Amino acid sequence: MKGLSHQLFPLSCVVQKYAWGKVGLDSEVAKLVVSGDPLAVIEEDKPYAELWMGAHPKGDAVIRDNRISQKTLGQWIEDHPGCLGSKVKDTFQGQLPFLFKVLSVNIALSIQAHPNRELAARLHTQFPEHYPDSNHKPEMAIALTPFEGLCGFRPVEEIGGFLKKVPEFHALVGNEAAEELQSIVGDPLRVPGALKKCFTRMMNCEKKVFVNQLNILVKRVSEEAAAGKDTTGSNGELLLRLHSQFPGDIGCFSIYFLNMVKLEPGEAMFLGANEPHAYLFGDCIECMACSDNTVRAGLTPKYIDVNTLCEMLSYTPAPASSKIFPVSRDPCDPFLFMYDPPVQDFTVMKIQVPASVKQYTVSPIDSASILLVVQGEATGASTAGLSEMSIKSGSVLFISASESVSVHITSPAGMLLFRACCLL
Ligand SMILES: [Zn+2]
Repeated sequence: MKGLSHQLFPLSCVVQKYAWGKVGLDSEVAKLVVSGDPLAVIEEDKPYAELWMGAHPKGDAVIRDNRISQKTLGQWIEDHPGCLGSKVKDTFQGQLPFLFKVLSVNIALSIQAHPNRELAARLHTQFPEHYPDSNHKPEMAIALTPFEGLCGFRPVEEIGGFLKKVPEFHALVGNEAAEELQSIVGDPLRVPGALKKCFTRMMNCEKKVFVNQLNILVKRVSEEAAAGKDTTGSNGELLLRLHSQFPGDIGCFSIYFLNMVKLEPGEAMFLGANEPHAYLFGDCIECMACSDNTVRAGLTPKYIDVNTLCEMLSYTPAPASSKIFPVSRDPCDPFLFMYDPPVQDFTVMKIQVPASVKQYTVSPIDSASILLVVQGEATGASTAGLSEMSIKSGSVLFISASESVSVHITSPAGMLLFRACCLL
């Protein structure tokens, strides 16, 4: 195989400046970019929403090694598919199966769900303009800073509580559907159907009806807050925040259906097919299967496909605490934490090397991987010693399958790394 000596190389990754991103150096994306490349210019008034570390055609990473003739990671993989590892290469037709990202969220992203493979294929055939490919899009978010999101349906008791305390919400759901949901609390088999009816009724309200109810609700909660009253019964703080970001949007009412999940740094949530979710605020590492298929439900100026969304969602109520994805420790490596979702496409590893340890080996695996340095400084060398480079916060490395990286840590406070790969 030609180019065998270049199994490890640094990448320069694409920044997406979507309007919802944190601005200037408030953004973890911007901080990583400027640390990894001192020549990078950060504009103090521009949003830095996403860093894309992968070979996606909309953001193919540039190779920073002038001994390599290919310009981008996508071109390199096309010319050297063996770098993926044989199982990954065969299973995913010579493509890197995942896209690795850093997100810095300042205002809410749309409420959404991602179809499973079967639905994705059908939607792509029927509506290619809205559903650009036929792949599923499971996602994992791992908090870098305290991170907030909406995820999955709340327990029925909580939704019932809001139906009682928030008459404006009750009005959109309607008496019949609300009463049905509240009458079947102890009957788990009937819950998904009743919940679907409530959510579908609300989502199908006429715009002038829900805008009117939202205005009444926001006025009432604002007055209560101004008078120093407790507004938690109406989820007041979050309601006013989302309404200030998306006035008149039906998504503001979704907070009464969906769990508010708060992640501490290192905690994760996994978003499988048909799970309703929205990121609200904070910085995170994200990994996903390579796809763009998103069905939206609100908090967005983009296309909303209410019928598809209401049909596809998993109406399985569960408490917010159950949405935090379990992390496992590697029995052989005390510094390695695994986020291994129930899909083939990707696994994320967190490597937290303490200050007392100066030498660490990023172990060889049977998959190409992408390594992001979040904290610390070191020299990194490939097994054969053919590539040696200094790495620090913001550095992104591509590691071919079966290659290891010997890391000699030079910073006093240890090191924090995230690695995305595909363990089949
Ligand atoms: Zn999503």
